[in-house]
Amino acid sequence: MARKVIYRFASGNADGNTNQKALLGGKGANLAEMAGLGIPVPPGFTITTEMCTEYMDKGGMPDGLIDEVKAAMAWLEKTTGKKFGDANNPLLVSVRSGARASMPGMMDTVLNLGLNDTSVVGMAKLTGNERFVYDAYRRLLTMYGDVVLGVDKEHFEDAMNVVKRQMAKDKGIAVPEDDEELGRVIPDSMLEAAQWKVISEEFKKILAAKTASGFPMDPVDQLVGAIKAVFDSWNNKRAQTYRKMHNIPASWGTAVNVQSMVFGNMGETSATGVAFTRDPSTGEKKFFGEWLPNAQGEDVVAGIRTPQPIKKGPNTAGKSLEEAMADNYKELDAIQQKLEKHYKDMQDLEFTIEQGKLFMLQTRNGKRTAPASVKIAIDMCKEGLISEEDAVMRVEPDRINELLFPMIDPKAPNKAVAKGINASPGAVTGKVVFSADDAVAVAEKGDKPILVRIETSPEDIHGMKAAVGILTARGGATSHAAVVARGMGKSCVAGCAGISVDYGPEKAVKENNDYSQAKFVAAGQTVKVGDVITIDGTGGRVYVGDVPKIPPKIGGEFEELLKFADKYSRMKVRANAETPEAAKAREMGAQGIGLCRTEHMFFTPEGILAIREMIVANDLAAREKALAKVLPIQAADFAQLFEIMDGFPVNIRLLDPPLHEFLPHEPDQQAEVAKAVGVTPEEIKAKVADLHEFNPMLGHRGVRLAVAYPEIAATQVKAILTAACQVQKKGKKVAPEIMIPLSLSKKELDLMKEIVDRVSKEVFAAEKTEVKFKFGTMIELPRAALLAHELAETAQFFSFGTNDLTQTTMGLSRDDAGKFLPPYVDQGVFEKDPFVSLDTAGVGELVQIAADRGRKTRPDISLGICGEHGGDPASIEFCDKVGLGYVSCSPFRVPVARVAAAQAAIVARKGDAEKTRTV
Ligand code: PEP
Ligand code: MG
Repeated sequence: MARKVIYRFASGNADGNTNQKALLGGKGANLAEMAGLGIPVPPGFTITTEMCTEYMDKGGMPDGLIDEVKAAMAWLEKTTGKKFGDANNPLLVSVRSGARASMPGMMDTVLNLGLNDTSVVGMAKLTGNERFVYDAYRRLLTMYGDVVLGVDKEHFEDAMNVVKRQMAKDKGIAVPEDDEELGRVIPDSMLEAAQWKVISEEFKKILAAKTASGFPMDPVDQLVGAIKAVFDSWNNKRAQTYRKMHNIPASWGTAVNVQSMVFGNMGETSATGVAFTRDPSTGEKKFFGEWLPNAQGEDVVAGIRTPQPIKKGPNTAGKSLEEAMADNYKELDAIQQKLEKHYKDMQDLEFTIEQGKLFMLQTRNGKRTAPASVKIAIDMCKEGLISEEDAVMRVEPDRINELLFPMIDPKAPNKAVAKGINASPGAVTGKVVFSADDAVAVAEKGDKPILVRIETSPEDIHGMKAAVGILTARGGATSHAAVVARGMGKSCVAGCAGISVDYGPEKAVKENNDYSQAKFVAAGQTVKVGDVITIDGTGGRVYVGDVPKIPPKIGGEFEELLKFADKYSRMKVRANAETPEAAKAREMGAQGIGLCRTEHMFFTPEGILAIREMIVANDLAAREKALAKVLPIQAADFAQLFEIMDGFPVNIRLLDPPLHEFLPHEPDQQAEVAKAVGVTPEEIKAKVADLHEFNPMLGHRGVRLAVAYPEIAATQVKAILTAACQVQKKGKKVAPEIMIPLSLSKKELDLMKEIVDRVSKEVFAAEKTEVKFKFGTMIELPRAALLAHELAETAQFFSFGTNDLTQTTMGLSRDDAGKFLPPYVDQGVFEKDPFVSLDTAGVGELVQIAADRGRKTRPDISLGICGEHGGDPASIEFCDKVGLGYVSCSPFRVPVARVAAAQAAIVARKGDAEKTRTV
């Protein structure tokens, strides 16, 4: 083959390196890197992701690939001194997936390939451990049957249970009916070589009966079958769901890693484990991990046996690796330090010790909670490992919200009923469900499910996504539940031994997926399906019922990171807020208000009454009388806003929504309003009918209201400027911006400017002082964007109202799109919902045009965005490219936007976005 499609690695030399993740997948690239560093890795080779995409396009093995695999196997045989399928010294290999981005447990793996009726004898002789070898053989038969040949695992379990029942009978033990109970009475560890031999024979018979060709004895056939299965698993349902959740393109494909097997289950000097160079939950700098003696890799992650800690410490369950295998521990500790220094990031490691010899099976940048990601970034910066800019790039802006999770109120009277591992932070309250499907059903009803499982598996992924929190009885900090929950940013308490979970009758569960009778017991209390519990993933505690929580605060490393972010960003971050949320916005670090929606301020009892009076007024005099009541209410609100913002710009938008939105549509409410306003119910009804519009979003709203009723605009301008004067007179700085919504022509702005000029003169005369203010407009209509050069003659600033601009550019109703957009996203018409993430190709082009044309007329024009997109990291990156001066978003998105704005600026300066992101 002209192209290189296979990359080899063996300790001390490797064809590839860590920068080739796109081609070799994360696992393959890092195995190559480790090998290159001289770290002990079992030798092997990686088949490129290009081969997977070719396989998918073609619907079969790429031409020549099998020959390349055979050649690589010949090299592997030479390197290891073993022979594939040999009767005396057989080589066994594992075949594992490995995509560019880590997708834990989503794709398939086959271990122990190369075992067959011949080599199994050779292996037994070689190891002197028949039991181990036949156990390995049956594992291969099960995995191969399940993954490659599609035979249900249940058949194997049934066959194994027959043998176990016989064994119980032979030993004179009462034979349990229930399979789970049988597993407890006769655990796998009790089976001897003789039983595993019988089981292997039975498994082969099952495969012969259930498939056309049975289990292939030719090891090359086995290998080819496994490679195909791994390619195919790129498109299994789990992988597809995971890709969708993490925005991983289907076109990437997976690499396939073929690697010589090492065994952690070859007796008491063998072991396997998973470790992190720092605590993935808290970020604390301590070597952290779990191991199991005499076990195979999957046993740790699956949560079947409770793993033991790597490092010795107080209250640890079982012996630590440090104590049990001191020499191996020392070597591992040195390797983990070397790897972290080399990668300059927290590493997630997998290792196996085979008869006293340590092998590294994997290293990758470890998944971590959001608080851990912040702590690790700041700590590594302080340790001199990475720069301040790198630290900012290390935190995913989308996950910053997780730092703003509520916490359990320390003053809450509730007592925890159980304590487990604090696997993923945040306190959440929800209804208990015991199956992934139930979690989805409960979430669909609008409730918040907490998924409680003995342990989770990749089959539960949809339920974990639907749940607000996850609680498991078994499994450690590296269990499936813990890893996936952290990745999803869901609260999780794992390995909570204090709860005993009972799924209910086995028949109902197995045959009908019916968990309605499931329950768990903790501290003597029984919790059933639908009961409310609270889990605290920060402290690892479980409570029955709803527990009071407190809102989060910005502090510690998070504050340091945000300071770095502000240091490196070009754009400012403002908030869309009125009083009292503006105070929260300041706390979150907003540097001004980007949008005060004045209509929101009318939703107080006296405010709504005044505005309704204004709406039902039949002539100018009556309207002005009502507006006189509106004025002080608004002025007081604005004054508060200026005070809170303490000199930062405060952008106040004149009334935008159609007036009918302020009137009720139900007769009894209309009667109530009539009484309060002092008119007849018929008059209200008539007014509602009069204001009815077929298409209110394109109707009488925005500046169009002010053109028809200039006195409304005049009153609002008077309130803004009076408040500004008064606050300024108290010695405070003010920076008001008066913003006109939904304009489409310069003429509209001129009409508004006339009002503003007139009113400002009056106010300044009355207040005997003047304030500096800006006058500008929102850009929410394509016509406004296209004629931005004209609008900029009057407007000193533009603020892009991308909610309406998306609606009017795409012709998609922003209030109805939620009903019909999901299939558009599912089928790839839009990559993301355009109301969430800016459609840069269409709507973005109009933003660019308006910015360019506006700047041509007025080079110092101030530009910002205040649509919901102002809090979306991808949209923020686009805004930076266009050269906007600020983004504005809701107060709780402000920290997200601060980090995203900094990242955008860093990427712009450094050029290569992907490289900069992954450092
Ligand atoms: C917009 O349209 O983007 C905007 C911010 O205004 P509103 O959401 O109030 O229409
Ligand atoms: Mg709008």
